[in-house]
Amino acid sequence: MRGALGGPRVLLRRLREVMAETVSAQEKLDRIVVLIASNMVAEVCSVYVLRADGNLELYATEGLKREAVHRTIINSDEGLVGLIASSAEPLALSDAQSHEAFSYRPETGEEIYHSFLGVPILRAGNTLGVLVVQNRAYRIYTEEEIEALQTTTMVIAEMVASGDLQTLVEPGQDIAIRRSLAQRGASLSEGIGLGYVVLHEPRVVVQKLIADDVAGELARIDGAITSLRERIDNLLARGDVAHSGEHRDVLETVRMFANDQGWLRRIREAIHTGLTAEGAVERVQSDTRARILRQTDPYLRERLHDLDELANRLLHELSGANFTAAREELPDNAILVARSMGPAALLDYDRSRLRGLVLEEGGKTSHIAIVARALGIPAVSEIDNIVSLVEAGDAIIVDGVAGEVQIRPQPNVEAAYAEKARLRARAQAKYKRLRKLPSTSKDGVNVRLNINAGLLVDMPHLAESGAAGVGLFRTELQFMVAEKLPSTTEQQLLYEQVLQGAGEAPVTFRTLDIGGDKVLPYMERVEEENPALGWRAIRIALDRPALLRAQMRALLRAAAGRSLRVMFPMVATIDEFLRARALVARERAYLNRHGHADPAEVKLGVMVEVPSLLFQLDEICAEADFISVGSNDLMQFLFAADRENRHVAGRFDPLGPAALRALRHIAHTAARHDCVATVCGEMSGRPLEAMTLIGLGFRALSMPPAAVGPVKAMLLALEVGPLTAFLDEVLRCDGQLETLRPRLEAFAEANCIPV
Ligand code: PEP
Ligand code: MG
Repeated sequence: MRGALGGPRVLLRRLREVMAETVSAQEKLDRIVVLIASNMVAEVCSVYVLRADGNLELYATEGLKREAVHRTIINSDEGLVGLIASSAEPLALSDAQSHEAFSYRPETGEEIYHSFLGVPILRAGNTLGVLVVQNRAYRIYTEEEIEALQTTTMVIAEMVASGDLQTLVEPGQDIAIRRSLAQRGASLSEGIGLGYVVLHEPRVVVQKLIADDVAGELARIDGAITSLRERIDNLLARGDVAHSGEHRDVLETVRMFANDQGWLRRIREAIHTGLTAEGAVERVQSDTRARILRQTDPYLRERLHDLDELANRLLHELSGANFTAAREELPDNAILVARSMGPAALLDYDRSRLRGLVLEEGGKTSHIAIVARALGIPAVSEIDNIVSLVEAGDAIIVDGVAGEVQIRPQPNVEAAYAEKARLRARAQAKYKRLRKLPSTSKDGVNVRLNINAGLLVDMPHLAESGAAGVGLFRTELQFMVAEKLPSTTEQQLLYEQVLQGAGEAPVTFRTLDIGGDKVLPYMERVEEENPALGWRAIRIALDRPALLRAQMRALLRAAAGRSLRVMFPMVATIDEFLRARALVARERAYLNRHGHADPAEVKLGVMVEVPSLLFQLDEICAEADFISVGSNDLMQFLFAADRENRHVAGRFDPLGPAALRALRHIAHTAARHDCVATVCGEMSGRPLEAMTLIGLGFRALSMPPAAVGPVKAMLLALEVGPLTAFLDEVLRCDGQLETLRPRLEAFAEANCIPV
């Protein structure tokens, strides 16, 4: 049996010398194929590179006819080379021509070669090309030879990925690794951002693939694995895992894999073939990825993430680099890319340089999404595999409106998005000009337009949008982004700063709305079958009054000498409100007894989010100082459709007759009692919905800051009188329709109302 001359280590050393030479990329490749052929004692060695159009192009050869280089183009499902590319598996044949997939290319002159060994050129599990050796004799390639050839492909993969070969391509025939990709996910935060990829957990760029000293590399990998295990154990022992965006489940799986003997054995074997510890980790991970990527089992694909994470952490251990990005090195126009991320981590970045965020995981109501919206950063999630699809520095566009990303966009795509971003900016500038105008309809009806907020970074939006005040301050956000339960003093400080930031404008604080999907990382999680219907918001507050008392104390102190408005979430019975109100009274009395200044006035409101309140509105309006419709929750409960469940969230339209009659009933009852009623759910921020709410009788709306401009533009063009008459009419006559949206759109169009 003929073996490789001098073995893979000698070959790797020679390859390293070639890579270091200052010759053109083509010359490098030409020398590499000669070296491999002679080392493997093969007559032929060829490199095929996968192009963006899916074809494999012969880039270099020793042994086949020279004129075939850059001329032989193989379809990715053609021949043995195509088979290797699509399966991402090596293929060794002693008689290639008898294989059913064999396809003959006369220009190459390969008919005289019988045995064939091809391996995929992989990087991060993606196929970049195929490396082939061939012999005249009917030869059986050994496992060691296959391994050795796979190891050498890492050097070629580096060349392909580095972009060196890009100089060799014809226009329009980019190599696949750099191709443009459009990916669709889900929008987390609106807006359009153009910029360059910054990996939140940067990949270690392996500088040195080829080992000088195998024993030394084996010792390094053992040391790195030991310290990785310790680090993960420590992370898991700490309480704030979730806070920094680390998932406990992921870490536990990573720990399990880090103890997997099969995985460790494969890394050690790869080191024995001549790779450095880093090179071996990459090699094994790339093979594993390639294998798993071809599986359809979602469980296995999910594990791939964990294996990626393990490999990445191990590379960081080996290089001594920090696992999370160096925040201070953020370029201008940074688009942050991560598998997942915690809200505090996002706040650590320099906002002025961030243009977007792309995640693999994170729902619309996740903490990271809330913070991204508060910071006004366009964000998209549910982009599968995003971290592997990009390289740091790649051009990327985040379309937070459509929930899409464009990776390495073509110039025409980039130009289209730049134009889209300009148009948005122009519209924003137009809305800015409306800022100082009174928010009054054409027929003189005043409507208070407020913003929703939850963090200090939200407060400048008040002046920027020209809103009348903060209609909903979600106090739980401070708790959600904190590492531990904020003390009463910390809470008080935030509320003071919020009130100060608001100046004369009123702020309506909502007491802690936790539970359900809003989980505090440091509080023990109660497992519930139906968290949205579970122990949350005021239910927790009344069962654990210390939490609400501390919060009320902080609010009362922060508002000393001025007006304080507080409302309670998820109230389902009048009794709950009365108990909460009694608690506030006790807290006020306590503070008075201890000589603290009282607020000038305290107004207490109820959020109307649970349908039971629709049948107690008279009593609620008689007792509460104001009510605020949490339409997000009210619609979820009215239609029994989980707002977090993509299959049903959009199924029922809040502009349907049932929802509109419920909303009208609220507006009318409140008016009868002279009780102010506002709507603070997301529907307030959509011009058509906002128009409808005004038509139903609401005179105050609270919405995301970016919505104030469009809603105001709508209001300025609206005549409320005719709209109310129109709504009464359609609600009387068209109750059988699934939605009144088309009717309302037609009304807006006929009356030139921008919605
Ligand atoms: C709502 O339910 O409409 C609301 C404003 O509260 P949240 O979205 O915070 O549950
Ligand atoms: Mg709610």
